[in-house]
Amino acid sequence: MGMKCRVCREPAVIDLKRHNANFCHPHFVAHCEEQVRRAIRHFAMIRPGEKVLVAVSGGKDSLALWDLLTRLGYPADGLYIGLGIDDYSDESLDHVRRFAGARGLTLHVVDLATDHGFTIPDAAAATRRAPCGACGLSKRHIFNQVALDGGYDVVCTGHNLDDEAAVLLGNVLHWDLDYLARQHPALPAAPGFARKVKPLYRLGEREMAAYCVLERIDYQVEECPMAAGNRHIGYKETLNDLEARSPGSKAAFLFGFLEKAHPVLGRGETDDGVVLHPCPSCGAPTPGEVCAFCRLRARAIPVTAS
Ligand code: SF4
Ligand SMILES: [Zn+2]
Ligand SMILES: [Zn+2]
Repeated sequence: MGMKCRVCREPAVIDLKRHNANFCHPHFVAHCEEQVRRAIRHFAMIRPGEKVLVAVSGGKDSLALWDLLTRLGYPADGLYIGLGIDDYSDESLDHVRRFAGARGLTLHVVDLATDHGFTIPDAAAATRRAPCGACGLSKRHIFNQVALDGGYDVVCTGHNLDDEAAVLLGNVLHWDLDYLARQHPALPAAPGFARKVKPLYRLGEREMAAYCVLERIDYQVEECPMAAGNRHIGYKETLNDLEARSPGSKAAFLFGFLEKAHPVLGRGETDDGVVLHPCPSCGAPTPGEVCAFCRLRARAIPVTAS
């Protein structure tokens, strides 16, 4: 049918309905770079000379993010967390190691089982809840701990436009104002917490997959086997239906929230006079006696041992 690149009129390799544009390979890569550059600039995500840590899972988003940050002149070290989810975790580590090795990048590896004595399946069994809650909690804790220990100024994660729009839909459906206030592509640093940013929030899932295929980034295609039942999957499907009927609605939903609604929501409950103490077990700031991660670990470890 002869799609042509919007920039150079050469044959295009991808059509982006949201942008009403087709791109050839080099101009699609330039488009991805530009979206990340805009994200970083718009929210002052990374400042010159800062030490950057990128959380990598082995999937398309996080490896594309690491690649794009490097291209854009933000040298970043990687952090991989072994979740202990059977073959899925072993294979994801292989993808990350190959990526980092081929580019001579520094990779930190924290293994939940080796370093903390439990896996995500253990935590799910011990708490009798869906694994994603324990998984998210563990990842946030370890990202922050490695960032602080290593003197990193900022932690980047590979959440894309589809991820953020799905989380937003969930938060809006439940009118969870605390979560809405804390949903932002750039969460500032606070005592004991590194800055956390999402430089891919302007790029969709399909764009990230295309980026990896075109740039020959060998990512883990298989999804986490514990994702089944995660309610965000349903939200993503709903948003994809909307997007098919009306291209651009996903971006309008998320970007409109960030521009118009987030500024009136305040900054979330953490600022409202809650006093944080260092966790006696790990030192992380916590409003309670022991931090949520150490409490989770205490519940999960006996299950492993028995
Ligand atoms: S799907 Fe859930 S359990 Fe699997 S990696 Fe994601 S958050 Fe963790
Ligand atoms: Zn072109
Ligand atoms: Zn702790």
